[in-house]
Parts: sequence; C-alpha cells; structure tokens
Amino acid sequence: MAEDYYQILGVDRTASPEDVKKAYRKLARQYHPDVNPGNKAAEEKFKRLGSAFEVLSDPKKRKLYDEFGPDAERIGFDEKKAEAYRAYKSAASSGGAGGIPYGAEGFDLGDLFSDLFGGRAGGAGGFGGADMFGRRGAASNGPERGEDLTARIQLTLAEAVSGTERTLSITRPGRCSACSGRGDSGRMGTCPTCGGTGRPRRASIFGGSGVCPNCQGTGKAMESCPQCGGAGIKDESTRLTVKIPAGVQTGSKVRLPGQGAAGPRGGPPGDLYIETDVAEHPLVRREADDLHIDLPVTVSEALLGADVRVPTFQGEVTVKVPPNSQSGRRMRLKGRGVPSLKGGAPGDLYLHLQVKVPEEATEEARAAAEALSRAYRGDVRRELTL
Ligand SMILES: [Zn+2]
Ligand SMILES: [Zn+2]
Repeated sequence: MAEDYYQILGVDRTASPEDVKKAYRKLARQYHPDVNPGNKAAEEKFKRLGSAFEVLSDPKKRKLYDEFGPDAERIGFDEKKAEAYRAYKSAASSGGAGGIPYGAEGFDLGDLFSDLFGGRAGGAGGFGGADMFGRRGAASNGPERGEDLTARIQLTLAEAVSGTERTLSITRPGRCSACSGRGDSGRMGTCPTCGGTGRPRRASIFGGSGVCPNCQGTGKAMESCPQCGGAGIKDESTRLTVKIPAGVQTGSKVRLPGQGAAGPRGGPPGDLYIETDVAEHPLVRREADDLHIDLPVTVSEALLGADVRVPTFQGEVTVKVPPNSQSGRRMRLKGRGVPSLKGGAPGDLYLHLQVKVPEEATEEARAAAEALSRAYRGDVRRELTL
C-alpha cells in the first residue's frame, strides 16, 4: 500500500502551498543524508519526502493526486489519460446491471482500466504490488504476465439456451510495437530523472550532494520508448469473435487464453474472460437447467382434454392436456430445458396449467357456467380447512 503523500509530509489535505513547502523543508533537513550518514531508513524517508513534495508542490499534479490518489502516478499526471480514466469510470458506473437492453454488450470498463494501470509494478514512485482491486499479484521473477481481463456480455435466455456467437470490440493494453514491449528506445540519452546533471534535482537546496539514483551519477540513461512511455504497453483495439456455449447462466465465464492484457516489458499476455449475464425472460422462469412456463388453457380444454401447441426454445411442440386437469397442474417436457454446460443431461421444461375463464360472461357463457356449476360433486372448498 503506497503511503499517502499528505501523510508523508504531515500536512492535511487543505494545506496551502506555503504550508507544504514549510513542512517539506523542515522534514527534509531532518532526514537529509548529510545529517544522517549511513542511515538507510532516513535515506528512504528522505526519498519519499522528495516524491511527495514533487507532487504536492505542483498545482496540476496535486489536483490529479487529490482526484486519483496513487493512480495519478500511474497515469503519469497526464491530463489526457486522466480524462480517459474519468470516462472509463463513468462508463463503468452507468453500464452496470439494469441499464443494458437485450443483446447489448456491456463492458466492465472499470476492470479494464484497473488492468490497464494496475499491473505496472516497479515503476517510478514505487507504486506497485497488489492493485486496487486486489487481484492476483505477478510473479517476482522473470517478465510479469499480463493481467487477466473480464468483459461482460448480456444474453437473452434464448441465446443462453441455444448458445451463440458474438463479435466484440475491445480495447486492451497490448504490447507496444515500437519497442516490442521492452519499454526503452534502445538509445542512451540524457537521464530524465536528473536532466543529465547526475545529481538529484532536489539536492540543490542543500548545496548539491547525492547521486541520481536512476543513472548513478553518469547523467546518461536508456531513453524511454516515446510510444509507450517506458511501460512496454500500449492500448490496442481489436475485434474478437467469441463462441458462447449453450447452457451458460449469469456469472458463467468463457476463457479466451492469451487475449488479456499484454505483460509489462515483454511479459506473456493474460487471459480474457467473457462473463455472461443472462437477462430475465418475462414468461420463462429458470431454475438451474429447468425452465418453467405458465400454460394458459380454456375451461373446456382443461375439462375435456386437448392437444395444445406450446413454444419451446427448441421449436414448437404439441402437448396433450389430459381431461379433468386442474389449474396449477404441472406437466413435464423432458429434455426441453437448458442444455447442461458440464455435458450432463439437459434440464426439463415444466408447464404449469392455468385455466382461463372467458374475458366476458356473455349470455351463452353464463348459461354454460350455470350448467357447469351443477357438475361439481359437492363444495370445491370442502378440504380448505386451516
Ligand atoms: Zn514502447
Ligand atoms: Zn540521472
């Protein structure tokens, strides 16, 4: 967890630029390496003070830091990237559950963003390690593997039952082609940390001591790749065709190996997971792999029995309603439910009979109803005792 810059300087968030400067001067004098020869902890503290002061003394950087916290460092205090971050965030919050019409794709851009900026451990400023979403950390040896990404798509129940294919446009962190993911331009140039002086910029306040940690005082360092700023990663947009197998439900994940984010500095890519979100059907209830439908029948169909046509996701079928069927009678159509994602037997389709009386009691219907009422053997509610 990165330390808060305000805490490092011991000022509160409303501190004026003057207060920030005062606090820095006081602490920097206290922890300066000249005053604490050989004291590693003091040296560390001194470095952190420098980083904190660099950000909080710059109104533009401070503003971004206030908005994004440590992420501001990751986006290089770059106003354009910050703009993209805000757009990602608002897209993520408005594209969530409920707002997506049938069949539309909703990407979890919040996740994409955190993957984009979350996995770059070891960059300037020491931000790294676990990202803000607590995802799996990368191995410490060898090139880091890229982050796994998750994209969410919404399906209709019919698509979930039959399986489908989707073409998705995604933007993901890809390998920078200019540097093949290495992050450097391949040329030595002026050290960006010290501007070529070989000494930390901040040291001038104290009469010029210390050595630039980036170039060890030589003033020369490998230039960062101008295309990716040294991360080895650059956003790329791509289209992918995804086969969604029959039987998925909300929360099912389809894995696309190697389609996740590129690894930093040439590491192997992560995986892309397509998470499905199956919309509720207004007429069909799903319980695991079984489906349930209310089947309206007329009074005479229920009383006399009938062959009725019933739509299923596998096409229309004719169902025999037995004579003397009561409302609520359950009929099972074996194997007409949802195919098993695990390769087992498919679920069943249950029809729940619903006896419908005519919408209007016409003269004729009234006479028929009176005739019907004489056909009951006794009180229909005789067993209804509590
Ligand atoms: Zn590059
Ligand atoms: Zn340097």
